[in-house]
Amino acid sequence: MMKNSKEKEQYSQNAEVRQRKLGYIRTRDQQDKRFCSKQKSYFTQRCQTDHEFKKKNRSRFSRRYRTDECFTMRRRAYITERYRDDVGFKNRQRSYITERYRDDVGFKNRQRSYITERYRDDVGFRNRQRYYITRRYLNNPEFRFKHQEIMRRIMKTKSDSLRTKTIRRVSTLLQKYKVINQLCRERNDCVIMKAVELFKAQIKNGPTFVCTVCHRALFPNQVRPCRRSFYKKNRHVVASCLTGQFVHICDDECQASCSVPAERKLEWICHTCCPHLKDGKMPAFAVANNLTLSDIPKELCGLNILERHLISKCISFAKIVPLPKGQQRAIRGNVVCVPSEVQETVNVLPRLRIQKHNYSRRCGPLRPNPH
Ligand SMILES: [Zn+2]
Ligand SMILES: [Zn+2]
Repeated sequence: MMKNSKEKEQYSQNAEVRQRKLGYIRTRDQQDKRFCSKQKSYFTQRCQTDHEFKKKNRSRFSRRYRTDECFTMRRRAYITERYRDDVGFKNRQRSYITERYRDDVGFKNRQRSYITERYRDDVGFRNRQRYYITRRYLNNPEFRFKHQEIMRRIMKTKSDSLRTKTIRRVSTLLQKYKVINQLCRERNDCVIMKAVELFKAQIKNGPTFVCTVCHRALFPNQVRPCRRSFYKKNRHVVASCLTGQFVHICDDECQASCSVPAERKLEWICHTCCPHLKDGKMPAFAVANNLTLSDIPKELCGLNILERHLISKCISFAKIVPLPKGQQRAIRGNVVCVPSEVQETVNVLPRLRIQKHNYSRRCGPLRPNPH
């Protein structure tokens, strides 16, 4: 502490004097405990009363923290240690951070980006965080409830926005077609009106025409009558492809009036299969191209979704995208089928009650060995 203005002046202007004074204070600070505590209380008091002094000190401190690596390390170690050992300090720090995070937007954003980056780059930190969050979720009901609430809110917002989007899109489409229809009527545009009428007529009964080669149920405009004599190039392929499986031939059961629709009494071929077969090539979708679907066995008919998943021979992965119009969905890109180990799944499942019963009856109750 400087006693008069002359000393003060010397201290501020002469670097040597300043160094000497600082060295003296540092040494005495380390050796003399009383001096140290006196210095501390003086500093605290001045910080509380002198605003300018506090501000100056803070800026000096942060500058030194930024530039002096040794000082930074020392401060960090000190803070870490104190945070670990001093409960009061820990709580103060926590409430300070919480409050600042809540009130200071800049600080909040900085903290967020720092945590995101560290989580991405630092494997140890990521694992620690995961472990901590999992434990907290398991052990702290309040935290769990809060987390569930947040997730529920996020999901609701997402689904709400999706629903709003869908409704908006549908209403736009309806509006658009309303305008088009009105325009057509006004102009008396018979071509478009006819096309619309034709389309409506074609889809009226649903896809009731079955292709004899690929067995797909299609609309009438997607198929043509199958004239077997038309396909001559590769007799072997033609014979295996033209199955005629879903063609109805009237027999005694039909009696006088057959109720089967007319299209089921003829053989049809789709516009996809026809050109291939004409060229004597195996159509890609043909049932004969190893795409036969056998009937589901009686035991597997009544399975629920979970049971079906457990025994499925492969798990398929596909990219499903919503189509821009009409709310339909389509598979885009490749479908990857991963074989699943059904036997392993069966082995880990608990046995049926009847199997347990048989086992215990076969082995008998456990008795002490008489010999
Ligand atoms: Zn076909
Ligand atoms: Zn019939």
